[in-house]
Amino acid sequence: MNQKVIIIGAGFSSLSAACYLAKKGYEVQILEKNEQLGGRARQLKRDGFTFDIGPTFYWMPDVFESFFNDFGKNTKDYYSLKKLNPAYQVYFGKNDSISIPDNLEEIKAEFEKIEKGSAQKLAKFIDNAAENYSIAINDLVYKPGENIFEIIELKTLKRLPLFFKSIKSQVSQYFRDPRLIKIMEFPVLFLGAKPSNTPAFYNFMNYADFALGTWHPEGGMYKVVEAFVNLAKDLNVRIENNISVESIIAEGNQVQKVRTNKGEFECDILLSGADYAHTESLLDKKFRSYSFNYWNKKTFAPSALLFYVGFDKKLKNVSHHTLFFDTDFAPHADAIYDNMRWPEKPLFYASFPGITDSLMSPMGKESGVFLIPIAPDLEDTPEIRKKYFDIIIDRIEIMTHQKLKNKILFQESYCIKEFVSDYNSYKGNAYGLANTIWQTHILRPKLRSKKLKNLYFAGQLTVPGPGVPPSIISGKIVSELIHKYHERDI
Ligand SMILES: Cc1cc2nc3c(=O)[nH]c(=O)nc-3n(C[C@H](O)[C@H](O)[C@H](O)COP(=O)(O)OP(=O)(O)OC[C@H]3O[C@@H](n4cnc5c(N)ncnc54)[C@H](O)[C@@H]3O)c2cc1C
Repeated sequence: MNQKVIIIGAGFSSLSAACYLAKKGYEVQILEKNEQLGGRARQLKRDGFTFDIGPTFYWMPDVFESFFNDFGKNTKDYYSLKKLNPAYQVYFGKNDSISIPDNLEEIKAEFEKIEKGSAQKLAKFIDNAAENYSIAINDLVYKPGENIFEIIELKTLKRLPLFFKSIKSQVSQYFRDPRLIKIMEFPVLFLGAKPSNTPAFYNFMNYADFALGTWHPEGGMYKVVEAFVNLAKDLNVRIENNISVESIIAEGNQVQKVRTNKGEFECDILLSGADYAHTESLLDKKFRSYSFNYWNKKTFAPSALLFYVGFDKKLKNVSHHTLFFDTDFAPHADAIYDNMRWPEKPLFYASFPGITDSLMSPMGKESGVFLIPIAPDLEDTPEIRKKYFDIIIDRIEIMTHQKLKNKILFQESYCIKEFVSDYNSYKGNAYGLANTIWQTHILRPKLRSKKLKNLYFAGQLTVPGPGVPPSIISGKIVSELIHKYHERDI
């Protein structure tokens, strides 16, 4: 009989791991608490409008391609991709915005218009970022973080100084114009920490941004979830929704079974793609690898206040991805990471996917997703949400020169309360544990439990970190780790 693996959750990391494990010959069953699969990448449909609830930026297309290639497939077997041009637009104030083109040569020309000599500096910066990207993909991010020796090689050692220098200080050595600095610091925000706390090595995200480009799967990011689900089903993975794991039963150093709202499920191996702290809270205390004190001290990626809005018109002067960086990031970052509070003048992000994809909004109308990054665990009330919705709409009206308030057909909001109730997210974090110097590789929570030999973890709280591509990679790494320790049992 094949080894039976139960996987908690149907986010990207779980779906990825499920495919790899099924291919290796394990019997795999996913238990997902929600009706819809995809975890943080679920979809909202309303009155003909389509919204991606979570991720909207499709970056690092090579990671997605490589995943499907591992199964003899290509992304185009499942969805069609469009490279966005502009990749995104950044507002710095009224009548002051920059559109980032879809290729480095034109981006350099845009930089040069703003700061003399910056095109050449950008070329040099991206050359270095390209080398780091190659090292990251080939020598670092696909390693399980079991021990430091996995990543020690001459070329990685040469990069060590970049781990002790921040991306902020590196960027400031190259550029002076505050707008260029904001653009260059933007990609590492995906890693969940502020640029002054993120190692310069992660400038490989700038390579991902400017060289690899920003893509859009037709129909939205949820099409990618559907692709993963279809592949998993073709590999005979059983996927059950509306099943919530309520406790994990262990004896000795082995998990025996999980108890759910729909009965008990026995397993030989248990893998959780759900938030780590939540999964461990389902275990008797003596079986937990990390205490609540441990989690409390960690730097979590931000939570977010999100709005999904149906507009009764097409919007002008905005792009598919539009960043409103028209306020100072320092006080906002302080409110997220240092003195946790609601920000006074938040930066925010808006997505209008209907601009490039007619499947996302009805004819003549626009679907808009708005995101304000905030500290986890803040007070979350309807009044606060309304206050920030008004701030956002006022600012967009001013920046983009159009009236919007009387064109809103509906708005739905999503914040800390939903992150907790929908995903059992620790303090309502949106995308896991930040990639700081002290939360990289072996310093991240382990893929394998320290107490239970057949309990594993995957996803944005483990290696390599937050984001869809890292979650997919984490699913691959954990499947290899499981195989390493349990192959003989198949
Ligand atoms: C608002 C937002 C915007 C983002 N934007 C981007 C972006 O533009 N680009 C990008 O690459 N990444 C982005 N991310 C990050 C990315 O979405 C995540 O890193 C990734 O989807 C996480 O996948 P995961 O498998 O680790 O976890 P999850 O997606 O959280 O999956 C965990 C699953 O476990 C389930 N679960 C929890 N507890 C239980 C239980 N007890 N029993 C059963 N099931 C359970 C949950 O319901 C969930 O489905 C964004 C995230 C958010 C929230």
